[in-house]
Order: sequence, then C-alpha cells, then structure tokens
Amino acid sequence: MYFYCEKCKKQYPLNTHAIRCSCGGLFRLHKDPEDVVPQDVSIGHMVTPLVPMNVGGIEVLLKLENLQPTGSYKDRGAATLVSVAKSLGITKIALDSAGYAGASVAAYAAAAGMDCRVYVPEGVPDGARQQLQTYGAEV
Ligand SMILES: [Zn+2]
Repeated sequence: MYFYCEKCKKQYPLNTHAIRCSCGGLFRLHKDPEDVVPQDVSIGHMVTPLVPMNVGGIEVLLKLENLQPTGSYKDRGAATLVSVAKSLGITKIALDSAGYAGASVAAYAAAAGMDCRVYVPEGVPDGARQQLQTYGAEV
C-alpha cells in the first residue's frame, strides 16, 4: 500500500508526514489485492446484526448499528484506521469531529494506547464531549 498524488501520480509511503503532494495534489490510497490491512485493535466491533422487517409490504433488513461498542457504525472504520496507524508506529491521533467519528477514533485510540485529540465545533452537545473525554481524548 502507498499513497499517490491524484494529479502527478508521485508515490509516497504510508508513513509520510506530508499532508499533500509537493505539486499540491491530494493523496489517494493505492492498495494491491495481496496487501494485508492490519486489524489488530478491537474493542468488540462486529458484523452488524440484521433484523428482517416488513415495511409497507416490502421486506427489508434493518442494521443494528447501535450495538457497536460506541453506538456507531463508525467503529469499523476507526478499528481499521487505528490498527493501520499503530502498525506504522504512530502514537498520536488528531481529528476534527462533531460526534460519532471522534468517539469511535478516541475509543480505539485508547485501546491501542495512543494519545487522541479531537477538535469539536462550538456548541457540541455535552454528551458528545463527555463521551470523548471518557475515552481519554483531549477535547
Ligand atoms: Zn503531485
């Protein structure tokens, strides 16, 4: 796996500290089929259970995402993000979030022993702030 510039196609390693290409282009992730994505960090996220239901004569399957450890489907992405970051030797994570993504990343960062800082917008609900702080994030 590696990053490449969407404009000039220059390649960068996953552990680059650059936030964009030297030409100004944004990064894209290249992943070969044989590349293994680490999944070492878990706090119990799962394949989401499905519940069948008839809605107006149509059979649908409802996903119970609220059963994920932080209550959000974003736990699956956070698990991958933090696992890959950990495999690269990264020890600190910072992100901006108004809620669920920040909570998921903060929880998985805590499980991985990483420092986490979450920038939230003014007026973020107290519950969201408290959830982040419960996971040890600097808010
Ligand atoms: Zn470029």
